[in-house]
Amino acid sequence: MSYVAIKNIRKTFNDQTVLHDIELSFEKGELVTLLGPSGCGKSTLLRILAGLTRQDSGTISLDGKDITNLKPKAREIGMVFQSYALFPNMTVLENISFGLKMKKEDSQTIKNKVARMIELTGLEGKENSYPRELSGGQQQRVALARSLVMEPKVLLLDEPLSALDAQIRKKLQQQLRTIQRELKMTMVLVTHDQEEAMAISDRIFILNQGRIAQQGTPNEIYARPANEFVAGFIGNYN
Ligand code: ADP
Ligand code: MG
Repeated sequence: MSYVAIKNIRKTFNDQTVLHDIELSFEKGELVTLLGPSGCGKSTLLRILAGLTRQDSGTISLDGKDITNLKPKAREIGMVFQSYALFPNMTVLENISFGLKMKKEDSQTIKNKVARMIELTGLEGKENSYPRELSGGQQQRVALARSLVMEPKVLLLDEPLSALDAQIRKKLQQQLRTIQRELKMTMVLVTHDQEEAMAISDRIFILNQGRIAQQGTPNEIYARPANEFVAGFIGNYN
C-alpha cells in the first residue's frame, strides 16, 4: 500500500464540481507536485488532504491509517501557505519554537530541534529578528522551519514561493529541494509554475478542471505529454 493514498475524492461547491473522483498516491520521502492552472482545484485538494475542507466522498489513508474523518491536528500533516502568517510579535526563534512548546516538549529538545532547523533553512544570525525585519524569502524560510520542526508525516505547501521575485524564487526552490532530501520529508507542493514543478519534483500530477490530466516524473511528462492540454501547458513556459 502507498504511504499516501487518495481515492475517489469528489468535491462540489454549490453547483460546480471542483474535484471529479481524484485518485492519486505517492510514497514516503517523495516530493510530489500538484501542477495546473489557476482554478483547477489544487488548493481544494490540498485542503481536503489537510482536513481543512470536507470532501463530499472518497477516502484518504496515510501510513496505513484511514485519516478520512480525522481532524486536521490528528493527521500529522503540516502545511505552509503562500502568505507567511508568522506571529508578528515573536522573534524567529520564538516563531519556530512555538508549536513544540504547545506540545510541551522539554526545553533542551526544543532547543536542539530548533537549532537544527535554523541551520537547515539558513537562518543563522536571524534568531532574534522579528518577521517585519526579514525579507519575503527569509520569512518564507521561517514558515518552512516552523512547519518542519514539528516533524509531520507529510508537509503540504500551497504555492509557497509564488509571492517572491523570480531570482529569490529560483534559489528557494533549490533550497527546498535540498532540505527535502536531507530530511527525506514527504512533501506535496502545489504550484501553477511548470518550470518550478519540472525543476524540483520526483513526480508531478497535472490537474485540469478537477481531473488528473497526467501523472509521471518530470522526464516522462516532458518526453511524452499524454494529451493536448498537458502539451500546451508544459510547453508554455512563462
Ligand atoms: P487552484 O488552487 O487550483 O487555483 P482552487 O482549489 O482554489 O483552485 O479552486 C477550484 C475552484 O473551486 C475554483 O473555481 C474556485 O472558485 C472554487 N472554490 C474554491 N473554494 C471555494 C469555496 N470555499 N466556495 C466556493 N467555491 C470555491
Ligand atoms: Mg490555489
